Amino acid sequence: MTLWAGLLTTHFWSAVLIALVLTHGTIVAVTLYLHRHQAHRALDLHPVLAHVFRFWLWLTTGMVTLEWVAVHRKHHARCETAEDPHSPQFLGIKRLLAGGVLLYSKASRDDATLQRYGQGTPSDRIERLLYSRYPVAGVLLLGLLDILLFGVRNGGLIYGIQMAWIPLWGAGVVNGLGHFWGYRNFALPNASTNLVPWGVLIGGEELHNNHHAAPWSPKLSAAPFEFDIGWSYIRMLAALGLARVRNPDAIPPRELAEAGCDAGMRPPGVPPIPRGIPRYGRVPGAAWRAGSGSTADRPDPRPGSAAAGTTRPFSDEDPRPVRAGASAPLRALECAPGAPAPPTRPGHPG
Ligand SMILES: [Zn+2]
Ligand SMILES: [Zn+2]
Repeated sequence: MTLWAGLLTTHFWSAVLIALVLTHGTIVAVTLYLHRHQAHRALDLHPVLAHVFRFWLWLTTGMVTLEWVAVHRKHHARCETAEDPHSPQFLGIKRLLAGGVLLYSKASRDDATLQRYGQGTPSDRIERLLYSRYPVAGVLLLGLLDILLFGVRNGGLIYGIQMAWIPLWGAGVVNGLGHFWGYRNFALPNASTNLVPWGVLIGGEELHNNHHAAPWSPKLSAAPFEFDIGWSYIRMLAALGLARVRNPDAIPPRELAEAGCDAGMRPPGVPPIPRGIPRYGRVPGAAWRAGSGSTADRPDPRPGSAAAGTTRPFSDEDPRPVRAGASAPLRALECAPGAPAPPTRPGHPG
């Protein structure tokens, strides 16, 4: 054994496969732990599992939970405005694809953002003394481990793929293309799109338009032809007693889609959003901008949410008032105080 070969001798293609498995683990940690669990509280995770995800993210990405959550919540609250940390509609798609990670990094250093949107994230001893204090130490350790285990060539390859994965797929593709190009199940007052109907490579985050329609939902697929691998993992973890859906009574995105997007919220006489074969393409600004004074997501139907008349679990900006002349379908989707009844199933307390 030499340092050049590594402790585990691997073929080049085995190294590529190992890199894909490891990066999938990181994608799962991002979508399940950072996004669905921490940022949106859509599901609870067993504390041990949550910590495994947190450790893995420190080791493989150097991302701090507080920072990721705060930047992402601000994106939802300020979507498609100059204050959105990464809107390709405002900053240009090239800037997102080429330097999305720089935009994230800049937003994550803003103390006001962290204070306002980062509430409820871990602040225990290990977070303070290690994860938040030395975020780069994890990725340096990972580089050493990769080279020790797989050698200079294959370890370097695996490490390079691991380092590029989240900046490419998260900061570039989801944050950029996910607000620029794809198809839309929900005519929201933001440019969010679904990139492909099968959410595997990015853990289900491909279904970004569905997510903006129902950010409270741990399941990101909506139409019958869509698949969210993250939701499959959640069901497996739930069967093992390691995860629990927070808000089972809220209508899942699929039922919202079947009911014509805005179930229970569509004013009489306004036709439902057309369904059928999705139309791919660039989202024209007029599709989400025209007539809409608000850029916020749909009302949160969870008991205790703003839509239910009390405070939200984290600090959101109040949506701006509806501009006169706003078109009815967009107005109906706005997250305004006194918004129509939240979408819960009949027979369940709203
Ligand atoms: Zn988004
Ligand atoms: Zn989100």
